[in-house]
Amino acid sequence: MQKELPRTLGQPMLDLHLDLYTIMIMVSATSLLTAGIMTLISFHSENVKGARQWAMGLFCSGASLAITVAALSGWSSSLRVFGPVGIGFGLGLIYCGIEAFKGQRCSYWLPFVLGAQMLIQNYLFYRFQVAIRMSLIANSALFSVVFALCARAAMVKAPQPLRTAFVFATSSFAFVAIIGLFRIYYLYQTPSESVTFLSQGAINPMFVMLAGLGYMSIALSLVLMAVFKLASDLREQASLDSLTGVLNRRSFEQESARLMARALRTGEPLAAIMIDVDFFKRINDLHGHQAGDEVLRQIAALLQSVTRKEDCLARYGGEEFCIMLSGTNEAGAVLLAERIRLLYLALRIQWNNEILKGTLSAGVADSRAFGANLSAMVGAADMALYRAKNEGRNRTVAYSEYELKREYAAAG
Ligand code: GH3
Ligand code: MG
Ligand code: MG
Repeated sequence: MQKELPRTLGQPMLDLHLDLYTIMIMVSATSLLTAGIMTLISFHSENVKGARQWAMGLFCSGASLAITVAALSGWSSSLRVFGPVGIGFGLGLIYCGIEAFKGQRCSYWLPFVLGAQMLIQNYLFYRFQVAIRMSLIANSALFSVVFALCARAAMVKAPQPLRTAFVFATSSFAFVAIIGLFRIYYLYQTPSESVTFLSQGAINPMFVMLAGLGYMSIALSLVLMAVFKLASDLREQASLDSLTGVLNRRSFEQESARLMARALRTGEPLAAIMIDVDFFKRINDLHGHQAGDEVLRQIAALLQSVTRKEDCLARYGGEEFCIMLSGTNEAGAVLLAERIRLLYLALRIQWNNEILKGTLSAGVADSRAFGANLSAMVGAADMALYRAKNEGRNRTVAYSEYELKREYAAAG
């Protein structure tokens, strides 16, 4: 009876018959395609930093992978040296793109160092006809390090939806880095003579396929990062007042409704301060519309400096601002309004060769009397503001005080 031969390492347990050339061509095509998409993004939006580096990196890596496939299929064996050089350079650019996307300075030396390292090691392997196993281990090790660096660079705390894109990118980079490490271990265990660039069998094609899928997932995650950045920029533009950078009235109403719902849930008070610049028209008439714009910007900056992150500040109308204060009652809001009034009173704004100064009036109300009715509360603050104007401007009036006076006047 014939004895079953022991299975040696590298001998296939399962032959997947994956066509490795086709896989590599698909990965290269995906890389070139996403490079094209990234180029379009970089042309259409200057706000997406890093898109240019990603476009160039994806193009370099994709084109170099195509060169590698051509070299492996017997076109010119010396091209084998340049394939990994271009891939290394491209990956370095992708790393720079992540840095630029985060608003950091790019380490532009990295693509060159990686390209040079790849050139040296692959030229030496080619020149001295070093075993393929050795060159594959060395290239995989360097690629794994770069993918791990990219994974670390993409590990950023960001607001949604960008956070999802960063997590997607980090996992994709880490996945390819880990596949690289497994490949090194497999190559290390495999006898040198049975290793070729594209050996078939159970394990090598699996590595090529998983690394290819991981790389495609990286390319898609970069596109997702750019698209989410565009989406969050648009959302920000739609919710902010373009002159002052504070919330516009529409998003103020949404945010205030959220604060009101929370106040009802927790039982905490909510207060509104309505602010109007006194005789603002005069500033426009005397110094020009642009001077008026500068005053509005300075007031918005002043208001931003005295409000907390959890408060809600908006430009409510032309020269009117509104602040919604959570966990604050009318008395607390009056204190803040007075502080703002005094700060503006002391503010001197330099405009051309002139100094602009002025006063403002404020009306304050809180949620006690209005339950869940947000517009009634804002209306009450507005009535108090109207009262402040009638009483001579440059003052703060609280709605309850105004109510008391009205009741008092009606009684007497
Ligand atoms: P009062 O003390 O009664 O509030 O007087 P006022 O002059 O401040 O109020 P009025 O409502 O008469 O005028 C407001 C002016 O604000 C009129 C308008 O041209 C100006 N304005 C509104 N929006 C802007 C803006 O975006 N930029 C500039 N420069 N002016 C603006
Ligand atoms: Mg005014
Ligand atoms: Mg006004």
